[in-house]
Amino acid sequence: MLDLRLGLSTPPDPYTDCGCFDDVSTAVPSPAAQAAQRRDDYVCQFCGFQSAKYQVCHGSEASGADALVTACIFCKQVMELDLVLKMRSAVLIWLPELSQVAINYSMPEVYVNRLARGATGGRARDLRDRLIARRELAKARFGSDEPAELIRRLRAASDDRSEIDNALADGLRILPLDRRIIRSGQLEFNQFPQILAFWRSRSGPFATGRTRSFERLELDLAGL
Ligand SMILES: [Zn+2]
Repeated sequence: MLDLRLGLSTPPDPYTDCGCFDDVSTAVPSPAAQAAQRRDDYVCQFCGFQSAKYQVCHGSEASGADALVTACIFCKQVMELDLVLKMRSAVLIWLPELSQVAINYSMPEVYVNRLARGATGGRARDLRDRLIARRELAKARFGSDEPAELIRRLRAASDDRSEIDNALADGLRILPLDRRIIRSGQLEFNQFPQILAFWRSRSGPFATGRTRSFERLELDLAGL
């Protein structure tokens, strides 16, 4: 696995032209991106989450597949945090109990299980509520639960990121939400239900009913 490092997208950022994140993940990926994802067996190289669809690439498209690595949508938005603003796809929480990588790997399963009937759905909803409640701690410890504030501080920090890196070491995390506002043509819409439908489908990563990461997450957060 590669190191997941919080960062911003390189200019020009994807909002510059249209004021909204373009629908890059449902558009046909470039040949280089397709080759990179095939090479990586559709496994996010930062957290290990595998999905045959709705993965993205990280790196420079212009330099070909060798310069690209497969990333899941949750790791991508950590590495290019400014994407989160228009997609409204994350909030800040304070959660020293779990690494950012563990959160990113586990949240797809939480969102899939949240739709399950019976006890599993209830447990997943409860877990998500407990994670969301950690926004209050982010406000208390970091001064905000808004990604915009972290983006502002990242831009202001330029070379000296020590204050931000200390906050990350202490427990500041980016919680992916079940929302991803993107633009397709003239329309803005929430793409997340489509992604969730694929994740739950026969071709999706949870088709075999694996629940290990969800149960591990529950165990890790039992004390919350
Ligand atoms: Zn990932």
